[in-house]
Amino acid sequence: MKRFIDLDVEGKTVVIRQDLNVPMKNGRITNDKRIRAALPTVRMALEKGAGVILISHLGRPVEGEYDEQFSLKPVAARIGEALGMNVPVARDLVAATVQPGHVVVLENIRFFKGEKKNDPELAAKIAALGDVYVMDAFGTAHRAQGSTEGAVRKAPVACAGPLLVSELDAFAKVLDAPKRPLVALIGGSKVSTKLGVLQNLIARVDKLVVGGGIANTFLAAQGINVGASLYEPDLLDEAKKIMELAKSKGCALPLPVDVVTAKELASGQKASVHNVNEVPADEMILDIGPQTVELYRRELADAATVVWNGPVGAFETEPFGAGTKALAEILAASSAFVVVGGGDSVSAVEGYGLADKMGYISTGGGASLELLEGKVLPAVAALNDRD
Ligand code: ADP
Ligand code: MG
Repeated sequence: MKRFIDLDVEGKTVVIRQDLNVPMKNGRITNDKRIRAALPTVRMALEKGAGVILISHLGRPVEGEYDEQFSLKPVAARIGEALGMNVPVARDLVAATVQPGHVVVLENIRFFKGEKKNDPELAAKIAALGDVYVMDAFGTAHRAQGSTEGAVRKAPVACAGPLLVSELDAFAKVLDAPKRPLVALIGGSKVSTKLGVLQNLIARVDKLVVGGGIANTFLAAQGINVGASLYEPDLLDEAKKIMELAKSKGCALPLPVDVVTAKELASGQKASVHNVNEVPADEMILDIGPQTVELYRRELADAATVVWNGPVGAFETEPFGAGTKALAEILAASSAFVVVGGGDSVSAVEGYGLADKMGYISTGGGASLELLEGKVLPAVAALNDRD
């Protein structure tokens, strides 16, 4: 795979597909994390002497229709502020031209018909905007769309941007050549959304530590009564299979020994701690308990690599966030290389102010899940197919 860092692009037009899909409220950016993550690549292109055209989607507009609400104008303004230059927005492909040393943002790529279904004609037009196409949008690399997979295949020269490269490198350190012991900490609401992840990881890890609604299904598969908890009866057999597989390959799969329960998932609920064998029939498990935190602390103590996906409790609602926070603190203090991937897990870690204590925080929820499932992301496959 060609890397942008290695290319000479002086005097050329570089088109960079980034993930500038920031959350907005009333035309204002509420979190500019993705813009900050994208800026180093823009600076790199400018330092190399190129002119830069930036491409991204924003929100979910009706495809093919301009809608001010989903315009990238506020994003371009924020990028301009950061770079100390005027960054105009091009409404259409014809207007998207740029001189070396300058930056132009193409309007929301979802205003262009054919983006979502990866129309080859649109992909070819996007690819023809510049001399080099830089795929740097890790957060959309799992979608084969016109400006991701499509344009990569059609561009005169296509390469991976530095953000995409760091993401792939971080996950390769977990999935391809991990320092062992390798421990996966998998939480979140449902086994069904993580089945592929569990199946792929169980074959690779030395230990699988589970929490959240996922742990409930594993507990239920062991015949434990989980009361009114969120769990998936349809997936008990799958959970059993995963536990058997773990056993047969000597992979430890510790389960919670105590849990925090309440009658409802709502803030300010009366919560109590119970041994897993004593969950009240009318209450639901909403977090791991303090003994489980200590158990998991010991299970994680000797890890050399950890991948964390999914909070171990309903952390957004107090008082059900203690387990997730404790694990974040344990991992922040760990000497292991810790990769955190998954929208909610990442926002939990960031909320605790511990993001910079982790080895790598992924910028892409869906894309990181697909990597953990062992899939090759379509845009990455396209880059690999290019010479
Ligand atoms: P990620 O985005 O990190 O991949 P998921 O989307 O799979 O994680 O799961 C996150 C959600 O799981 C959170 O909204 C959290 O409240 C919920 N959750 C975790 N544990 C439980 C539980 N025991 N009961 C209900 N919901 C839970
Ligand atoms: Mg999520």
